[in-house]
Amino acid sequence: MKIVYSRHYDIGFFGLERLHPFDSRKYSRAWRCLSREFGARLRQMHVKTDRPVTREELLRVHTEGYLELLRRPRYVAAALELPIVGRLPRVIVDHCILKPMRWGTRGSMLAVAEANKQGVAVNLSGGYHHAKPDEGQGFCVYADIALAVDDVRRHGLIGPEAHVAYIDADAHQGNGVCHTFLHDKRVFIFDIYNHTNYPCYDHVAQGRIDCHVRVHAGHTSDEYMRAMKRMLPVFFDSISHSERVELAVYNAGTDVYAGDALGNLNVTAEHVLERDLFVIDQLRQRDISVAMLLSGGYSRESYRLVFETVNALVNKYGE
Ligand SMILES: [Zn+2]
Repeated sequence: MKIVYSRHYDIGFFGLERLHPFDSRKYSRAWRCLSREFGARLRQMHVKTDRPVTREELLRVHTEGYLELLRRPRYVAAALELPIVGRLPRVIVDHCILKPMRWGTRGSMLAVAEANKQGVAVNLSGGYHHAKPDEGQGFCVYADIALAVDDVRRHGLIGPEAHVAYIDADAHQGNGVCHTFLHDKRVFIFDIYNHTNYPCYDHVAQGRIDCHVRVHAGHTSDEYMRAMKRMLPVFFDSISHSERVELAVYNAGTDVYAGDALGNLNVTAEHVLERDLFVIDQLRQRDISVAMLLSGGYSRESYRLVFETVNALVNKYGE
């Protein structure tokens, strides 16, 4: 198992945490917990993100016009739902907000490549599942999931027709991923999400999902877990008929947690851990490689939930 991480992941905008429930330093906080737990052993599993994703790579999925829009602080402010960002100079927005996300995007690319070699890899960032080829929204700017899948195909690490499973357990529907893979039938999408949350109006995206599990604030943590355990194996069995599924990307949003500011679900910390292990075990039992990405998580506990999952994965799949 490999853990992809860079100290450049933290979003360094001074005071951001006071303006948005997002913990912009959850990446380094989770990493520090792992360092304390595993010490030198962590170094053997660590893959250091080498650089941010380049413009040339971004253009494999995003349009030129969209990358041009990202030069406008007001546009970025709208995508991040942080109006104050619109009043900052462009260089600050790029350096403190967009650049860490480009590091995170490159990390997702490395994690998918490492998963393909090792079986299991985690990027301690990424999972920007609302980003579309020509539009940023919902705190997501770069379509790291599509860029990562494209990159392993491009380098011949998986075959041109190889099937890929995408499992999205973030509390919000992964509409950007659906739009990016709208006509790519090699990718199969499972999405369990709170259907009353943003982006509930995106019916085109919902139409692209191969297996829906809709939950809402009225569901208990037990009901959430039962739905997950019932439907995920059904999904895997349904997509394994013709071409083999070689790779999976697991978007492990921790905003399903009961204490989260934006997820509006009631999942306990124990069940977040159980969910993550269930998804990854199901994939490994089917000999499918999996890259886990962090995605959303808007509570002070987000980094700890991430740590608990990665800790358990290291104990099970670590070197
Ligand atoms: Zn979310």
